[in-house]
Amino acid sequence: MSRTADILERLVAFPSVCRTPNGEIVAFCHDLLQAAGAAVTVLPGPEGDRANLFATFGPPGVPGFILSAHLDVVPAGEGWSGDPFRLRRTGDRFVGRGAADMKGFVACVLAGVADLPQDLARPLHVALSYDEEIGCVGVPHMIERLPDLCAMPTACLVGEPSDLHPVLRHKGKVAGRITVRGRTGHSSRPDLADNAVHLAADVIALIRDLGRDYGANGPFHPLFEPPASTLQVGIVSGGTGVNIVPDLCRLEWEARAVPGLDPMVILRAVEAGIAALLRPYEAAGRSLRAACEITAAYPALDLPDEAPLRYLAEGLSGQPALGAVSYGTEAGLFQAAGIPSIVCGPGSITQAHRPDESIGLGDLAACDAMLARLAATLVR
Ligand SMILES: [Zn+2]
Repeated sequence: MSRTADILERLVAFPSVCRTPNGEIVAFCHDLLQAAGAAVTVLPGPEGDRANLFATFGPPGVPGFILSAHLDVVPAGEGWSGDPFRLRRTGDRFVGRGAADMKGFVACVLAGVADLPQDLARPLHVALSYDEEIGCVGVPHMIERLPDLCAMPTACLVGEPSDLHPVLRHKGKVAGRITVRGRTGHSSRPDLADNAVHLAADVIALIRDLGRDYGANGPFHPLFEPPASTLQVGIVSGGTGVNIVPDLCRLEWEARAVPGLDPMVILRAVEAGIAALLRPYEAAGRSLRAACEITAAYPALDLPDEAPLRYLAEGLSGQPALGAVSYGTEAGLFQAAGIPSIVCGPGSITQAHRPDESIGLGDLAACDAMLARLAATLVR
């Protein structure tokens, strides 16, 4: 336990905020894993200044088990009662950015591998990603390299905070930016200009109405709250003056899709709706146009109730499974790559992304015990 706490203190001290270089925390994890006997591969992402890390204990050519986590944290923000990047103990809790989401789990993993049995018959993999917090941006680059790194794993456990309840399902997500362009002019002659904000208003209504359609007509998944897929526009920016016809408006939007509905289907519905909105303007020779780009996307997680991994995780954690949670994780991406995946980690999701984020000492000890039980299943 004190080893876990010591490692957590080191991990929290790296301000590994999403969208920033992560070389220092990756090097720290690399050295601990290598010292424990792993074959470690650092996998730089296309950004060039940040990397995923993949480590294997035991025979790489045999199907094994992945423990997955992200190393990035959300920015500290305001309202802390101490330095967010200095772990401190308050009663029976550790406080610091990432304590629960999810450096606590990473600390348990890095502490536990020092005690791994030497005679693993099946490998244990440790997969550490970057920029999860901005929409699972890093981990796809690691997943696409998996065939070069190891035999196809049989399972993946993502240690996001779930109070050690195995989580079977979450919604998928797509988030995007829509850039509407028109032609500027004086507001006294709008007939000579093309108002980008006005077209953006139609796009906003389109996205809102699509969300209402899914809410009214499904598909529905009764385990989720709300039970349907949802859409919203979260950011709008455009225009420079009330007497100037705006030629530019940007929207940022997202959709969260129930299992069984591919988030990309929602994206295509938005794109088709925008194309239909533009058609009369194109026919009239107007200059309005719109471009869609994806800023983040991950598929839903949907592990069947009867999946062997569900019973394995319940046995390891000692907690009953949860049918669905409202937050998303990298587990959907591992599942989409053909690896049965489940979420199960220490601490509470209610601690994530808030000031004075904390995790209980008991939560870490229970996770240490879960990982030791997992390791024992990989022997023989
Ligand atoms: Zn997280």
